[in-house]
Amino acid sequence: MPQPTPPDRLETSQQLNSLSTPQPLLNLFSTPQPLLSSFDFLIVGAGFAGSVLAERIATQLGQTCLIVEKRNHIGGNAYDHYDAAGVLVHDYGPHYFRTNSQRIVEYLSQFTEWRSVEYKILSWTDGKFWQFPINLNTFEQLIGRASTSAEMEAQLAEWRVQIDNPKNSEEVIVSQVGWKLYEMFFKNYTRKQWQRDAKDLDASVCGRIPIRTNRDDRYLSESFQALPKDGYTKMFEKMLAHPKIEVRLNTDFREARSQVRFDHLIFTGPIDEYFDHCFGPLPYRSLRFEPETIAQEFFQPAMQVNYPNDHDFTRIVEIKHATGQKLPATTIVREYPQNFGPGREPYYPIPAPDAKALYSKYAERAVSEKNVSFVGRLATYRYYNMDQVVGMALAEFEQIQSGKRKVEWSEWDERHRR
Ligand code: FAD
Ligand code: UDP
Repeated sequence: MPQPTPPDRLETSQQLNSLSTPQPLLNLFSTPQPLLSSFDFLIVGAGFAGSVLAERIATQLGQTCLIVEKRNHIGGNAYDHYDAAGVLVHDYGPHYFRTNSQRIVEYLSQFTEWRSVEYKILSWTDGKFWQFPINLNTFEQLIGRASTSAEMEAQLAEWRVQIDNPKNSEEVIVSQVGWKLYEMFFKNYTRKQWQRDAKDLDASVCGRIPIRTNRDDRYLSESFQALPKDGYTKMFEKMLAHPKIEVRLNTDFREARSQVRFDHLIFTGPIDEYFDHCFGPLPYRSLRFEPETIAQEFFQPAMQVNYPNDHDFTRIVEIKHATGQKLPATTIVREYPQNFGPGREPYYPIPAPDAKALYSKYAERAVSEKNVSFVGRLATYRYYNMDQVVGMALAEFEQIQSGKRKVEWSEWDERHRR
């Protein structure tokens, strides 16, 4: 049934599109609307997982999607906006896009142009800025004179702890650089961030930080490193601007589920919430972001400065270094890790054996949940980057397209409708 156009429909794509061809309107509603309607797909969450799937389903299958998003904006944690000083800020922590997948770059390039960025950061400890991640420049700072890769490698060979298969985040670092550098840069940052010791976290957590003996000082190693030229939100607006996609902001799945008829559900929220925490709540780590606008062109010497050993915050991000905006003012964001609880966002699943064991109970239930796809960082409880979530959503679309995930709506309806 066609929807009436309510007065608060935001015709954002008319304002935003720099593409030369006319674009369809973004069907986006920001105040609660009666949901009594019927769609092929109900999608929970307008982040990467939900938006990629909506785009694919609408454009490739010609089917209708309703996205319900409990926040007041699209984009999930990748959302960015211009603050009062005109600075483009990443509201939920810095989002550095990177990938090794040409397919994912090509897919997203339909909705954005890119600004190539080499993400560079520093670490502050012992009263000075250090080159980070650890590389030959860091080593030279440490020994106080010029050096070579060969000398650094020989020194690390002496410092490192012999561990063949590092099983946790402490082992993965000490097996590469030894205790001194681990304690300078990793031990306390990790405690602050996760409220756990590195030895109680999977090796992949600290293992994702490169350690190099050359002068490559980029924070990340992937072959493609860039930001959407006009920001993430603009990219999402283009992705979702399709007549078969409708987006309802400020709308929780718990309200929508009993009011909308649909054939298939795509859930990208926390999996334990979906199952009413029946096996107990999954652990998450939350954050508090503290923005501050300063009347000077730049505040700090790099896009991000990490504070492993000083202060309660883990890092100060000044994203203007990466976006390349030319403005007399700047905005920095201090990031304070905090416990997850009511009214707080579950930013990070905890990559650790105990949390994974609990998640596997939910994952088992999810398999038998017919007509429902669980996609994204929260629904699959994975510490995934944006490109990995895009990859996961594209893979899920292939399953849906091949008909493997479809069962009769009435089956789902019987079990869930209240
Ligand atoms: P999300 O972006 O979390 O979207 C899920 C959406 O579902 C949210 O908008 C949420 O409000 C909505 N939702 C949840 N429950 C409900 C409900 N019941 N009803 C309605 N809506 C609901 N990745 C990188 O590649 N590079 C980075 O530099 C990077 N930095 C990061 C920094 C931080 C601080 C964080 C937290 C993450 C970072 N990431 C980064 C990871 C990136 O944010 C995720 O990979 C990506 O956003 C995941 O997309 P998603 O759609 O799975 O989830
Ligand atoms: N980490 C650290 N010191 C640093 C930077 C990172 O100990 O200076 C560890 C920490 O445990 C962190 C993990 O490495 O959670 C991954 O860091 P990254 O910057 O990739 O985290 P994210 O941007 O996902 O929060």
